[in-house]
Amino acid sequence: MTTAFYFDERCLWHTTGEHALILPVGGYVQPPSGAGHAESPESKRRFKNLLEVSGIAAHLSWRGAEPASRDDMLRVHPAAYLDQFKALSDADGGNAGIYSPFGPGSFEIAALSAGLAKRAVADVLSGEVANAYVLSRPPGHHCLPEQSMGFCLLANIPIALEAARASHGLGRVAVLDWDVHHGNGTQAVYYDRDDTLTISIHQETCFPPGQGLASERGAGPGQGTNLNIPLLPGGGHQAYMDAFELLALPAIRSFAPDLIVIACGLDANGFDPLARMLAHSETFRQMTRQVKDLAAEICGGRVLAVHEGGYAEVAVPFCGLAVVEELSERRSPVQDPLLELLQTQQPPADMIAFQRARLAQQAQHI
Ligand code: ZN
Repeated sequence: MTTAFYFDERCLWHTTGEHALILPVGGYVQPPSGAGHAESPESKRRFKNLLEVSGIAAHLSWRGAEPASRDDMLRVHPAAYLDQFKALSDADGGNAGIYSPFGPGSFEIAALSAGLAKRAVADVLSGEVANAYVLSRPPGHHCLPEQSMGFCLLANIPIALEAARASHGLGRVAVLDWDVHHGNGTQAVYYDRDDTLTISIHQETCFPPGQGLASERGAGPGQGTNLNIPLLPGGGHQAYMDAFELLALPAIRSFAPDLIVIACGLDANGFDPLARMLAHSETFRQMTRQVKDLAAEICGGRVLAVHEGGYAEVAVPFCGLAVVEELSERRSPVQDPLLELLQTQQPPADMIAFQRARLAQQAQHI
């Protein structure tokens, strides 16, 4: 069986309007000469292109999908939000929330982005593919049911999971979000539910500000099924390895899911302009390997990764390639040309020890 890769060029045609990094152009913000908004297609396109140039793409099952339907969206989002988003999209674009500008037609592109995740979940569950990577865009993990946020216009992963629950009887799911920002949208959807474990490893109080605290553990029936693992700014490869060993992997094993979904932001890498962590491609490689091994042990190998953030255009492709190489158990001849530099920039041993002690302390209180 093969690893499947879900992609649609139209996802790269979603626009975010005239911005420089995250700032609307105007006033003292000069219009950009290059990509403009941080959430540009470029990092995604370069990732997809590197899969092809490296030769890995030839070994993947390359797939598209139908857009998510309105019924699919309504399982997660209220009609009022969908109507507002659609009306703005049908006009000239706009912003239906916080830090989430979009251009004309982005509603249909967001539906496609969620649709790619929906099909990937269905194909992994049916056993048609071994595992999957979904290059969805726009991303989804910040999107709240009633409001877009942080470049995320629809909650891609929850839409995919709830569709599979409706049609395939999908049971327990663990969502492991290693995007450098807090997976607040996914957390919000599942906060009071006991069928979905949501884990977010993120730079502490990076985005959304003040959220993603370790004390947020779920509510009601969902008490204990939300796990936030905030890492100190400047943490690198070892911080992620320690977060996995001490908290994330034991939590997933103990939850015993039927499926593991990785919310695969690649913005913890040390070159990202929207965060301050020092992970590198080997970090993403080893995290993927560990999740894949765990999936083989506890849920028949059922695992997929859904793309989230990642704004360092040159670095993202090498991190993404490492994830896909691990999922497909195949190495390309590509050596990450940025790896050695980031490995020399890792934090000192006392900072690593301090971070590990904090994680161990958090683990003691679970
Ligand atoms: Zn992010």
